[in-house]
Amino acid sequence: MSFASLGVSPALVSALAEQKYTKPYPIQEQAIPAILDHKDVLGIAQTGSGKTASYVLPILMNLEGKNTGSGRNINTLVLVPTRELALQVDDVFSSFGASLRYNVKSKAVHGGVSINPQMMSMHNVNVLVATPGRLLELYRAKAVKLDSVDTLVLDEADKMLNLGFKDELDRILSLLPTKRQNLLFSATLSPDIQNIERILLHNPLVIYIAPKELNIDLIQQVAYTVTDERKGPLLRYLIKTKEMKQVLIFTSSIYQADLVADKLKKNGIKARAIHGKKSQGSRNESMITFKNGSLTALVATDLLARGIDIEFLPHVINYELPRGPKDFIHRIGRTGRAENSGEAITFITKEDEHHFKVIQKKMKKQVNRLESDGLKLHGY
Ligand code: AMP
Repeated sequence: MSFASLGVSPALVSALAEQKYTKPYPIQEQAIPAILDHKDVLGIAQTGSGKTASYVLPILMNLEGKNTGSGRNINTLVLVPTRELALQVDDVFSSFGASLRYNVKSKAVHGGVSINPQMMSMHNVNVLVATPGRLLELYRAKAVKLDSVDTLVLDEADKMLNLGFKDELDRILSLLPTKRQNLLFSATLSPDIQNIERILLHNPLVIYIAPKELNIDLIQQVAYTVTDERKGPLLRYLIKTKEMKQVLIFTSSIYQADLVADKLKKNGIKARAIHGKKSQGSRNESMITFKNGSLTALVATDLLARGIDIEFLPHVINYELPRGPKDFIHRIGRTGRAENSGEAITFITKEDEHHFKVIQKKMKKQVNRLESDGLKLHGY
């Protein structure tokens, strides 16, 4: 199966090839023809399934010939739960949209930043990717008109509900024209999602993509026995001797995350801390630079790590143990996906021994132990 055989236009096929999308993913095989055919779609699929391109490509094609981007009227509205996702989706629209002969102007709007620049730049936008609260603010300020919306996407709808956006969603739906194409994506099919599905979708194509199983056996795990004082030097020793290019490091507190990142920087390793006390701007920058490879080490707390949307990481280091086995598996899970296998390293102090035993038991896996005593950490 090729993108061309799904009906994707030659211009987009070459843009796909440039971005190394050689073959459509299963969700794309099913969604692209249906969306081109103006059908409603319910996609039960997670991040990593290729769901974004599965709707971006056909929406871009459907925009051809439409009276796009006039004044403050938009054609396509994509609602997403978070700023990170808004930026990512907008990026996919803009990068593929740039290869088209007709005008596509997409824009991401989200809370947590000043609304004024967003209001000023709404002119001639035809694809708007928005978090629900900020969209309503822009609507109330008359910066955006919703009368011409003919395509609605709810992406990560389950997360939107979890974050408490139900009322905003209802309000937005009441403002949209009733005749439109609806595309709903969610990682799970909870009763809440089924409710939305009933209101929103007309005779939809339902696509179910089973979540990729996390295979713990794919993760190469080791644990170093180490004292608290030697943790910092050991961390830097490992990053340098293993020539790590992208490593996610976990600490148990904000204070430690800052401390570890500062020490790494002082030792010439490009590092940033990401946690709840950092501004949105700083978090965005950390994520972008970590993803594009210009940052070597990202030091995170568990809470923030949930928002780190990277499919596969070559290295994860547990500088400190998390509170429970679930968090532990969540942390190291990013290094064991499908055909990829990465490495998870855990630092264990004497005090951690019992807790780590519990984690290993829950994980049903005995982790290889290495002593750090013999390592020459001087100078690291
Ligand atoms: P998503 O599930 O939309 O977040 O996509 C997950 C990742 O897969 C993104 O980094 C995409 O760039 C990538 N991707 C999506 N579709 C394809 C494809 N057909 N071939 C290769 N990479 C893809």
